[in-house]
Amino acid sequence: MFDPQEATKPRSSRQHQGLLRICELYASVQGEGLLTGMPSTFVRTSGCNLRCWFCDTPFASWKPEGDYYAPGEIVEQCQRLGIQHVVLTGGEPMLFGAITELTRQLLAAGFHLTIETAGTMWREVYCDLMSISPKLPSSAPRQASDTWIAAHHARRQRLDVVRKMMERFEYQLKFVVDCPSDAEEVLDYLHQLGRFDRHRVLMMPQGTSQAELDRQAQWLLPWCQEHGVRFCPRAHIAWFGNRRQT
Ligand code: SF4
Repeated sequence: MFDPQEATKPRSSRQHQGLLRICELYASVQGEGLLTGMPSTFVRTSGCNLRCWFCDTPFASWKPEGDYYAPGEIVEQCQRLGIQHVVLTGGEPMLFGAITELTRQLLAAGFHLTIETAGTMWREVYCDLMSISPKLPSSAPRQASDTWIAAHHARRQRLDVVRKMMERFEYQLKFVVDCPSDAEEVLDYLHQLGRFDRHRVLMMPQGTSQAELDRQAQWLLPWCQEHGVRFCPRAHIAWFGNRRQT
């Protein structure tokens, strides 16, 4: 967890301009995407504008936890951990206006920064890798109010935002898929997106146990070969299991 003892006074859970709500900040190893295997500090913002049924961080979406911190406090925590790579993730980090200042300070401090986002909101930010995980129609929550289901669908797809991110930054497109029909949805999405680098498209099986991921790999791996995109194992599940702060 983000250690309030190590920072200046934590704020209460009120919205504060210039601050970000953080539910955890920890050292681990990147388990997904082009930088798999890279020792990294993970800064997880709390709160999300979507409600995916498969969300594996409900403490940052469905039931957000954590206090509010200033960009400088967060940078200081990253400096204390002393790891060059930082991954700013969520929840949805783009919810916070202070992300502009946080990312500016992280790059100025010499960190390599990845931002993980669903690509539904644009903010002026600075980073070395924009990791975009667009949410497909099948991501909709299954046990939620009609209001949330409608909000999820209304917000989940912003092709204009994703295109702008791809133009502005080094990027990867990461899709969570649970079954072959989800993979077909990815093809539809890519078709609508238009231009993209196939080698930056990563297909990630949905699952929280190694047995489940192994089962999914049996159909997804050949599917990726057939379509010339990358299979993206969730290596952190194999290394650490489905635990927080991994
Ligand atoms: S966008 Fe990410 S954090 Fe938000 S609900 Fe979906 S999986 Fe969870």
